[in-house]
Amino acid sequence: NSGLRIRGLQVEYTSGQPALGQVSLTLPEHGIYTIIGPSGSGKSTLLRAVAGLLPSYEGELLFNGKSVHDKETLIGLVPQNYGLLPWKTVRDNIRVAMRITSPDRESKRVMEAEISHWLKSMGIAELAGRYPLSLSGGQQQRVAIARAFAIRPTILLLDEPFSALDAITREALQQIFLDNWLAHPATTLFVTHDVEEAILLGQKVIVMPSAKQDTPEILDNTPVFA
Ligand code: ADP
Ligand code: ADP
Repeated sequence: NSGLRIRGLQVEYTSGQPALGQVSLTLPEHGIYTIIGPSGSGKSTLLRAVAGLLPSYEGELLFNGKSVHDKETLIGLVPQNYGLLPWKTVRDNIRVAMRITSPDRESKRVMEAEISHWLKSMGIAELAGRYPLSLSGGQQQRVAIARAFAIRPTILLLDEPFSALDAITREALQQIFLDNWLAHPATTLFVTHDVEEAILLGQKVIVMPSAKQDTPEILDNTPVFA
């Protein structure tokens, strides 16, 4: 019963056209599970369903036996376009997400210290007062990841977080992400189109099929950090 269980998940944006067909997955708690597959195979749709961003879907999404959309399951999302609020500073972006997800979690002082901790751990302490649109893509990506960790998620969802980065920046961020993840090992779904990255990071590699009636293939893997 423990971990993330997806049973018979089906999504249609337009009726009669499956965007995602019959996906069933059982994933133990506290792992990184990478998702690869052709464009249009439903990787983002799968994340959106778990994130609770779809108006409807068929099937069951359970975490430790309860709906993932129950209050006690916090979901951290790093969307493809970073999802930062442009009119708020980096620090404010993180604070807003913490307030929304845990309105009465702790004192202001503790919260500010935690924001500083996550900014530092992502190597962007000096960007706290900047606005997102004044940052590079890689810097915005770090902010989005810091924000997702800062809410102390039970489930962490990342949609191609490093795909827009040059190879050197990508490698650095993979390492920083792993260090942070090891300190806070949420159950993680990580979409990537990079097979090497999928194998580097994933305890299981989920291969989405191109035909919607087929089920994903799940490969057990020994990631580098294991
Ligand atoms: P992937 O992330 O693997 O590229 P997506 O989840 O984005 O796949 O898309 C799966 C299918 O759903 C595709 O056929 C895509 O065209 C369709 N789709 C995705 N988003 C929408 C949307 N907002 N409205 C209608 N169809 C969509
Ligand atoms: P609003 O009520 O203002 O529309 P949103 O739900 O859009 O609030 O959230 C505000 C900001 O907090 C957004 O940038 C959003 O991406 C971020 N956020 C909300 N929930 C989470 C979460 N679980 N993980 C990471 N960021 C989140």
